[in-house]
Amino acid sequence: MTEDHTAAQVLSIEDDEAIGDAIEAVVVKHGHHCVRAANGRDGLRLFFEDRPDLVVLDLGLPVMDGWQVLERIRELSDVPILVLTARDREKDKVRGLNEGADDYLTKPFSVNELGARIVALLRRARPTPGAEVVPAETYTDELISIDFGARTVTSLGNEVQLTALEFRLLETFVRHVGQALSTEQLLRLAWSDDTGVGPERVKFSVLRLRRKLGWHQGEDGPLRAVRGYGYRYRPES
Ligand code: CA
Repeated sequence: MTEDHTAAQVLSIEDDEAIGDAIEAVVVKHGHHCVRAANGRDGLRLFFEDRPDLVVLDLGLPVMDGWQVLERIRELSDVPILVLTARDREKDKVRGLNEGADDYLTKPFSVNELGARIVALLRRARPTPGAEVVPAETYTDELISIDFGARTVTSLGNEVQLTALEFRLLETFVRHVGQALSTEQLLRLAWSDDTGVGPERVKFSVLRLRRKLGWHQGEDGPLRAVRGYGYRYRPES
């Protein structure tokens, strides 16, 4: 079965061969290509070699575990990551999202469920033409300084490495200083996603952004949740 789109490259990192076979079958059924690794180190190597469009990542892996793989990929890339968690590991779902996974599936899962998640993540990941074009200018307040041309961010005097998504999210906030932005607005502006689906993606990206910028005050810091609505960036204390 093929679908009306260009084929994507999916990287499956899963040490259980039967589950790896199932993942590959689903990926191929949806008209995409699948590359496979059976441990974390090989998975990371294939990630850098093949630059896949989506990663399906088992968290319990030999050699280098899935958490390390997730962290390494997320330091450098916004590639969609679907993590596979063992049953009875409720905590892993939250931790996975907190560390940058886009979605999770609990084993055992049905192939239909896996296929639906893969299709949804690939659809969301399609870039909007022109979305990356930003005027070369700078933004500075008492906390951060951003050079939009060089795409550099300085927080508390230190340069901070942000992924492309984190940079867009921060840019969205500083272009609306003091203004409450709904999760739907943030999904549209930073993710180019009109569906409004997945407010937890916003929540965990905000948590990562705060952490990277050194705003450990959380809800008392400059980037605050607006209860039942979204978030607001206000640099002055
Ligand atoms: Ca495993």
